Amino acid sequence: MLLLDRRSFAIGSAGLLAGCATVGPRPVRPADCSPLAPVKVDQGRVIRTVAGLRPYRASGFVVRAEPLADKKLVHNYGHGGAGITLSWGSSKLATDLGLQGHSGPVAVIGAGALGLTTARLVQEAGFPVTVYAKALPPHTTSNIAGGQISPFGHFREGSVTPDWRRQFQAAMDYSWRRWQIMVGDDYGIRWLPTYEETRRPAHQGDWLDPYYPNSRKLIDGQHPFPVADVISFDTMYVETGRFLRQMMRDIHVAGGRIEVREFADPTAIAALPEKLVFNCTGLGARQLFGDQELQPVRGQLAILLPQPEVRYAFAGEAGYMFPRADGILLGGTFERDVWDATPDPADIARIVRSHQQLFAGFRCSA
Ligand SMILES: Cc1cc2nc3c(=O)[nH]c(=O)nc-3n(C[C@H](O)[C@H](O)[C@H](O)COP(=O)(O)OP(=O)(O)OC[C@H]3O[C@@H](n4cnc5c(N)ncnc54)[C@H](O)[C@@H]3O)c2cc1C
Repeated sequence: MLLLDRRSFAIGSAGLLAGCATVGPRPVRPADCSPLAPVKVDQGRVIRTVAGLRPYRASGFVVRAEPLADKKLVHNYGHGGAGITLSWGSSKLATDLGLQGHSGPVAVIGAGALGLTTARLVQEAGFPVTVYAKALPPHTTSNIAGGQISPFGHFREGSVTPDWRRQFQAAMDYSWRRWQIMVGDDYGIRWLPTYEETRRPAHQGDWLDPYYPNSRKLIDGQHPFPVADVISFDTMYVETGRFLRQMMRDIHVAGGRIEVREFADPTAIAALPEKLVFNCTGLGARQLFGDQELQPVRGQLAILLPQPEVRYAFAGEAGYMFPRADGILLGGTFERDVWDATPDPADIARIVRSHQQLFAGFRCSA
């Protein structure tokens, strides 16, 4: 197993996840173990298993405009393991780039998190929109995502440019504010305390610190997890199926159209009537536009029966656990260049077993 750092993600060759965000130190007050409801992990409680392919690029996501025949084409793809997190902000960068000086209807290709947020921002700016996509929710990668708002697993340190970093920071800033104003049951978004196992020393002064509010290092005895080093912070979690469903409704209510259509190559896109086109095809951009840097990083999940009393998330050597209304998500694989989007029973059994051990070892429970 490989311990990964959520802030400077490096993908291991196969690896079960362990995420660890280092946070600014705070004075630690001696406290009793704060009891949490343990997750009931048992093979018999698994209600489904899924696998999805993260659209990963070592040099980061692409937001860029280029001409295509008589059109302006704006790319907005390649967000790796952070496409839910960055969707609003990346789509804001893309629409700011594309809509400047534009008049008339707009096309968005793709109906995942990037396509639907782009379409809504186009509508909010006052333009008519048509979304064209090969697959609609619930059949997108975005539906599979765990939905933690954390910019994790979407680039490699050393492969990105200062300009791209500025895009990342701007995208994160807008996303962070946008997700907050959408918290609630209608979009399936909520804040949760999150516990992460980390071996790294406490860290200060990172520009990402504000996106891990209420962060602190916990000492042994302050948490129930049977692991050595734990930090906690609060962040938002998106029930992705509910969010995407509501986004499609919003697009329709605002007069947008959604059409199922696959594009084989850029020539087919050039034949569209709209003069401005956003490419939000995720991993599909590899074939459609020949971006060979784009590669899948497969993630597998075992979903357990919902447990409404579980109101915290965990990530560590065991993998990760995100509780949602539609089930308890157990995950943690990051498999580079694996194209098969079917869960592997042996990996799923491993994910279930590691979480079973984690929760069986709880030192105090609610
Ligand atoms: C197991 C797992 C867990 C994850 N957890 C998180 C998380 O906790 N937080 C987070 O921020 N991110 C997470 N992610 C990452 C996130 O899912 C992706 O970054 C995100 O879904 C990418 O969105 P997208 O809209 O670019 O792509 P997609 O959701 O794949 O949508 C692409 C759209 O383009 C369409 N399309 C593609 N090719 C064509 C074509 N040729 N013609 C027409 N249409 C086309 C598709 O049909 C689809 O509608 C996770 C991913 C996985 C697999």
